[in-house]
Amino acid sequence: MIQPVTKERFALNTATVRAQWSLRDCIEGCVRHGIRGIAPWRDKLEDCGVKEAARMIADSGLVVTGLCRGGMFPAADEAGRRAALDDNRRAVDHAMEIGARCLVLVVGGLPPGSKDLRGARAQVRDGIGALLDHARPAGLPLAIEPLHPMYAADRACVNTMKHANELCDELGAGLGIAVDVYHVWWDPDLEAEIGRAGAQRLLGFHLCDWLVPTTDLLLDRGMMGDGVIDLPRIRGWMEAAGYAGFAEVEIFSAETWWKRPGDEVLRTCVERLPLV
Ligand code: ZN
Repeated sequence: MIQPVTKERFALNTATVRAQWSLRDCIEGCVRHGIRGIAPWRDKLEDCGVKEAARMIADSGLVVTGLCRGGMFPAADEAGRRAALDDNRRAVDHAMEIGARCLVLVVGGLPPGSKDLRGARAQVRDGIGALLDHARPAGLPLAIEPLHPMYAADRACVNTMKHANELCDELGAGLGIAVDVYHVWWDPDLEAEIGRAGAQRLLGFHLCDWLVPTTDLLLDRGMMGDGVIDLPRIRGWMEAAGYAGFAEVEIFSAETWWKRPGDEVLRTCVERLPLV
């Protein structure tokens, strides 16, 4: 039996309280609840300015487990791809500025009007390759987050750990994977692919739960323990593979958790840690 996650190795992804809290609220909330890590989304950084965000986070002593998010590489034309790459380079710079351990990549889906999934995947590979030229010298790891296949068209056409591992094999150093249980729990190859990734590549571990029924494809994620994902089993696979980083709660929940007071959400997350 593996030991439960402690607050010392637990992080708040700001998406979890996106509707209620500013970045400052999130930082103060983590400190109040004894949570030691934070993973901001770029919208929260931009609301207060990256400089101020960096200062607040540094003052708090929180570990920045990752910045969400870069990616969205495919575009209909060269100008679009260039604009996406420019934005990704900025994201790398901002991740460095706030001391993030990695930049999480939601890689993008089909360009508008396109049915060329293979082409979109090639654009993703090329985009990550080009971004690595900027991220590698900076020493910032990039973390591909494979997304559930239901998002292949509009959010991410990398949908399995196997595909993410193949991209890591092909593109080399500086590239790893963020494992989000919501996206990969169903995969029969999950244990093997987590093992294949190993400690070097496993850069993040995102927690929530899969509700039955799920009423919204994007905004109806469950609190740990309220759904059907065997969280301790997946965490056991992560740890067996050598992952020693933070477990990060990331719950998009428009109708439930975004409507509760932020302190109640964080308190509930901490209470559920023994179930993880
Ligand atoms: Zn995630």
